[in-house]
Amino acid sequence: MNRRYFIKSGVALAGVAALFNLPLVPALAETSANAGAKKSAAPFPKVVKTDEEWKRLLTPEQYNVTRQKHTEAPYSSPLLKNHARGTFQCVCCALPLFSSKAKFESETGWPSFWTPIAKQNVREEPDTSAGDTRTEVVCNRCDAHLGHVFDDGPKPTGLRYCMNGVALKFVKATATKRA
Ligand SMILES: [Zn+2]
Repeated sequence: MNRRYFIKSGVALAGVAALFNLPLVPALAETSANAGAKKSAAPFPKVVKTDEEWKRLLTPEQYNVTRQKHTEAPYSSPLLKNHARGTFQCVCCALPLFSSKAKFESETGWPSFWTPIAKQNVREEPDTSAGDTRTEVVCNRCDAHLGHVFDDGPKPTGLRYCMNGVALKFVKATATKRA
């Protein structure tokens, strides 16, 4: 079941990559070497820190969510109602994770997106901690716990990346270029 799900989400994500015209596309073309691999190789060095270092760098809430896999209280994140144009980065390592273009109102109480900014920037892991099997989403550079992905999202992917706002840092787009 999981395997089928991974394949489905991979195909859907490849389909929307063109919409964003982003520079981070190499892994989306990984049709040969890594196509069957569960974990895609990240095209950037990992960020690895000790627990003590993360504790020093993060607020207690950021630490509990990203390093201890806690879940923030629903409707607690200021990013929930943030509709500005920009990029949501990993709060731990600043890797760009989601674009405001992919944000939507899920009415769940957590910031929600229908696609990551680049497939290789996030990693999916099976999570059985709540009894049923959910799919955990982590930062592919520093392994921060971000949230979960579900298959009840809007078109075009049908995916709902349900994120802890405290795991994200919003960076507003600069108004240098207008299409
Ligand atoms: Zn990270």
